[in-house]
Amino acid sequence: MFEKILIANRGEIALRVQRACRTMGIKTVAVHSTADAEAKYVKLADESVCIGPPPAAQSYLNIPAIISAAEVTDSQAIHPGYGFLSENADFAERVEKSGFVFIGPRPETIRLMGDKVSAKNAMKKAGVPCVPGSDGALPEDIEEIRKIAKQIGYPIIIKASGGGGGRGMRVVHTEAALSNAVIMTRNEAQAAFGNPVVYAEKFLENPRHIEFQLLIDEHGNAIHLGERDCSLQRRHQKILEEAPAPGINEKMRNKIGERCADACRRIKYRGVGTFEFLFENDEFYFIEMNTRLQVEHPITEAITGIDLVQAQIRVAAGEVLAVRQKDVIIKGHAIECRINAEDPYKLTPSAGRITQYHIPGGPGVRFDSHAYHNYMVPPHYDSMIGKVIAYGDTREQAIARMRIALTETVIEGIKTNIPLHLDLLADATFLRGGVSIHYLEQKLALHNKSS
Ligand code: ADP
Repeated sequence: MFEKILIANRGEIALRVQRACRTMGIKTVAVHSTADAEAKYVKLADESVCIGPPPAAQSYLNIPAIISAAEVTDSQAIHPGYGFLSENADFAERVEKSGFVFIGPRPETIRLMGDKVSAKNAMKKAGVPCVPGSDGALPEDIEEIRKIAKQIGYPIIIKASGGGGGRGMRVVHTEAALSNAVIMTRNEAQAAFGNPVVYAEKFLENPRHIEFQLLIDEHGNAIHLGERDCSLQRRHQKILEEAPAPGINEKMRNKIGERCADACRRIKYRGVGTFEFLFENDEFYFIEMNTRLQVEHPITEAITGIDLVQAQIRVAAGEVLAVRQKDVIIKGHAIECRINAEDPYKLTPSAGRITQYHIPGGPGVRFDSHAYHNYMVPPHYDSMIGKVIAYGDTREQAIARMRIALTETVIEGIKTNIPLHLDLLADATFLRGGVSIHYLEQKLALHNKSS
């Protein structure tokens, strides 16, 4: 096992990874920007290194600074967390070339799955169900594109192969709008991702977002840990997730989960990974794979009892998976509410000092946050300041515990989205389960119209 790991991230995930390391007796190195010098996990780390000024491009995305920090501290491995450099194949490669272990998949795998056309092709080959669409990249010839679009059937969505973060996509409802949409998406994709390749998919009108958690070692053992429903999103960002997904039975879970596990074996995947699907009319359609730990990983931990960060570290150290598929038992129900420093309905960020801070507790409640009384939420980064995870024997119990936990939480001095979560937890449609990816946006629009 490693003796020292450098954590190349900030915020709650830096603390989460640090906790896993400490549990395993591994020393930690925190790297931080000047804006995060006072952060709790920086003080708690065995060592810390300042890697630059507040803008992420000069600190958390500064590859040479992170590699030097690993060198001067004699770290053996680097955990990238999520966001920042976690899905950057060049970073993973530089880490390995510099003699450190990258806690994540091989650089080639990150590259393969980061390109959506190649990812989709690889998944199709492995028998993972995909959204019907063009067979790879769209050709240059507009007549050819018209034929392909007609075959798929309108509405379609034009997507950038190099896209990410919900950008580089355009829905097309009629043939008249097709040519312009392809040209515009290509131009945008070239400008934003340096890659003009686009492809087409059937546009699903009212799907749910359901994703599968996978865990794979270097010795060809791959298991799935069930699914999460992450349909509650605004601007393509998840805010409340639950596991298991309402209405998904064991047969469906095992069928899709095993296909994903098989795909991982084929591409020689290593570590944790998530297969994202759209789910409509009882069918799963693969959209993309995330080659890293997800924000919402704790709900899977809650229902399986598996510590995903510890597992990730063990796999990176070359250990054989300790659990087999038959040992994975999904029990109970878990919900995660992401606590963001923002106006709950207008969604404008709300950085500043936290003047009052009381966190929830009680049976089945987990609170992952780097914040504290008097903590200054910096304006430079993502607005998420923590996550509340509630677990119960049933979905109803998990929801009831979450409601109590959020009512107990006091965070003053900044705005948070807790009122929105409480609103959702009392919403009859959400309580029934299985809302589509458009539900939250519709609810927000209604609220903003009537206030
Ligand atoms: P990104 O990498 O930018 O997140 P994804 O391929 O994961 O891109 O798609 C992001 C979101 O766009 C999905 O969660 C969904 O809301 C929407 N989307 C993508 N493909 C489709 C599709 N074929 N039909 C309907 N919505 C889609």
